Amino acid sequence: MDGAGLPETRSACPYCGVGCGVLLRPDGQGGMDVRGDPDHPANFGRLCSKGSALAETVGLSQRLLTPRIAGRETGWDETLQLVADKFSEAISQHGPDSVAFYVSGQLLTEDYYVANKLMKGFIGSANIDTNSRLCMASSVAGHKRAFGTDTVPGTYEDLEEADLVVLVGSNLAWCHPVLYQRVLAAKTQRGTRIVVVDPRRTASCDGADLHLALRPGSDVALFNRLLAEIYQGGAFDADFLRNTTGFDAAIQTAMGDDVSVTGLSEQELAAFCKLWVGTEKVVTIYSQGVNQSTSGSDKVNAILNCHLATGRIGKPGCGPLSVTGQPNAMGGREVGGLANMLACHLDLENPDHRNTVRDFWSSSSVPEAPGLKAVDMFRAVGDGRIKALWIIHTNPAVSMPEANAVQDAIARCPFTVVSDITANTDTARLADVLLPATAWGEKDGTVTNSDRTISRQRSVLAAPGQARADWDILAEVGRRMGFEDAFDYQTPAEIFREHAALSGMAGQIGRDFDISALADISDNAYADLVPVRWPVTPNRIGGRFFGDGNFFHADKKARLLPVSWRPPAAKTGPRYPYRLNTGRLRDQWHTMTRTALSPRLSAHLPEPFVDLHPDDAATAGIEPADLVRLSSRAGTGILRARISDTVQPGQLFASMHWTGETAPSARIDALVEAATDPVSGQPESKASVVAMTRY
Ligand code: SF4
Repeated sequence: MDGAGLPETRSACPYCGVGCGVLLRPDGQGGMDVRGDPDHPANFGRLCSKGSALAETVGLSQRLLTPRIAGRETGWDETLQLVADKFSEAISQHGPDSVAFYVSGQLLTEDYYVANKLMKGFIGSANIDTNSRLCMASSVAGHKRAFGTDTVPGTYEDLEEADLVVLVGSNLAWCHPVLYQRVLAAKTQRGTRIVVVDPRRTASCDGADLHLALRPGSDVALFNRLLAEIYQGGAFDADFLRNTTGFDAAIQTAMGDDVSVTGLSEQELAAFCKLWVGTEKVVTIYSQGVNQSTSGSDKVNAILNCHLATGRIGKPGCGPLSVTGQPNAMGGREVGGLANMLACHLDLENPDHRNTVRDFWSSSSVPEAPGLKAVDMFRAVGDGRIKALWIIHTNPAVSMPEANAVQDAIARCPFTVVSDITANTDTARLADVLLPATAWGEKDGTVTNSDRTISRQRSVLAAPGQARADWDILAEVGRRMGFEDAFDYQTPAEIFREHAALSGMAGQIGRDFDISALADISDNAYADLVPVRWPVTPNRIGGRFFGDGNFFHADKKARLLPVSWRPPAAKTGPRYPYRLNTGRLRDQWHTMTRTALSPRLSAHLPEPFVDLHPDDAATAGIEPADLVRLSSRAGTGILRARISDTVQPGQLFASMHWTGETAPSARIDALVEAATDPVSGQPESKASVVAMTRY
C-alpha cells in the first residue's frame, strides 16, 4: 500500500535534548517519511543529520519481538509473573533496598513516572537511578544549590536575543546541532559573538570569535576569574543581588583562586572577561564538559555565580542554559527519576514533600534516604547487595565507567531484567529476562526538552510482535506485586493527568514544576497536545524564571556559592601520562542501537579512533592511521590514531559509542575510572589518565 496519501503526524525526535519536532508519514509498509516540523518551537523545521535519518532506523531487523526467559521465547503472562515474583521474593528476604531499577532518558515521561512511583512509592526504596546520572546530574545539583529547585531559567528564544553566547564544555555543533544552527543564524542576523570554552578545538569553534582551550577540569578557576573581574570592575548588579545571598563569600573565594591552572594566557583571560562583562545579553550554554567531572556541581555554580552577580538571568537574551544529552532527561528530572529526587521537583529529604507524595499516591511510605546513584548502584550489584535489577532502555555494560566491572557485576546479579527494543546489546546478552518494548515511532507519550518544552511523541507504527509500552509493562508488574489500585492505568493520558495533578500540589508548596492546568486534560486534548513550555498553571504558561528575583529557597533568595578549583581525580604521571577525554560523534547516538542501522550515519566516521597531538605521536613513535593501545587502571582499548592539533599535547580524545557488538576493542568506558562528583554523583568521563603505545 502506498502511504503517500496518509496524513502526517506530529512527534518529537528521540535523540538529543534539543527536542526537535518531526512530522511522520507512514509509508504503509512498516516505514515512514520524516521531516522537520516547521511549527515546533525548538527547530522550526530544521533537523540535523541524525534526525533527518530517522526513517532509516525504524526497521525490524534487530528487534526483540518476544519476551524471553533465559533465552527461551515465552509469553507475557509467564514472564511478568516471574519478574513480579523474583522482585517480591528479594524484597521479602532481603528488604526493599535489595532491588534496583536503572532506567534511561530515552523513556517517555509517563514510563518514567510509573517506574519511579513503583520503586519509591510501593517497593519502598529509592533505588531507581538513570543514565541521566551520567549526563546532567551536576547541573541538577548546581541548580538546586543556587535556585532551590532544578530550574532551567531561560528559553531557546534567548539564543536569538543574546549578543554573546558562551559554550562551556559543549560541542554544540555536533551534540545539539539545531541549537548551534540557531546560534549561527543569530550571529548572521545580529552579530552575536560566540566563545567556546573547551580543551579541544571542536566543530563548534568554526563559528567562534574566541576559543579558550583551557586545561581539562579548570572551568571553576576561569569563572572565578570572571567573577573577580565583575566585582573589581563594579559590574555587579547591586539591585539584583538583594535577591541573593553569598555574594561576599563567593567573591572572596574567587579572588583567591588560582587562574593559572587554566593554562590560558593573560591576553585570553582579559579578552574573555572584557567581552562577558561588556555585553549585557549573555547566554552561557554548558553541557557534558562541565557536568561529567568530579567538580561538575562546582563548575555549574561558578557559572551561575556570574549570572546571578550581574542579574543576567531570567531576562530576554540572558541566562545560563544547561543543554541535556537525551530527549527526555528533563522529563526524568520532573518525575523524580534520580535516586535522590521525588516526583515534581519535590525533595526526598524534606518530610513535608515526602508526605505530599505519599498521601497523593496513597502509599504506606516514601523512603527518607536517597537510593543508590548509578556508580554506587552497580557496585552494589557487583558485591551482591542487589538481588534483582531491572535495566530499561540503556546499555550500562558499555556506557558506565569501568564498564568491564559493570559487565561482570550484571553477569553475577542473581536476577536481571532488561527491557529494550533489541536483544543485541552487551547488557541484554547478560539478562535473565528480556522484555520487548515499543520503539520510537510506536511509543505514545510526552518528553520535555532542555528549555522545558513538553512535546508529544506519537505512535504511527503498530507495535510489532509482542512489544508493549514501558508504562504498561511496569504497571502490570506493579499490579502483580500486589499494588493493583495504584497501577490500574489503561492509557498514557491517565498517567499524564496524575502527574499533572501531583505537580499542582507541588506548585502549592512552592515548587517550580507545575503543570496543574493540564490535570484535567481530556484524552482527545492529550492526543492533540501541542508543544508547551512549563509551567502550565491557570495563571501562567511558560516564560522565563527568576527575572522577578523570586527563587525557590525558603527565603526566596538565590545562593551564590564559594567554589574553588579542584583538579580532576586522576593524576597524570610516568605510568599514565595522557589525559583521555571522551565524547560524542556528530552522527552516532549512545551505543548505536539505532543510528548504526543507517548507512549514511555510519559512513561519517566509520571506525573507532583516538585523536592525539603531533608532538605526542612523535614521542610515542605513532604514525597516522596506526593502531594504538590505550590502557588505564580500569581497562584497555585499541583504536586507530588520528594525529591532529585539535587536541592539546598530553591530551587524547575518543568517542563513547563503540560496543562489544560494533568494536569490542574500543569500548572506551572500559578505560574510564568511576570517580564521581561528591555532590551530584556524576562520573568524571572527560579526564581519565591512560598510557598509549603503538599496537
Ligand atoms: Fe534530533 Fe537533536 Fe538533531 Fe534535533 S538536534 S534532530 S533533537 S538529534
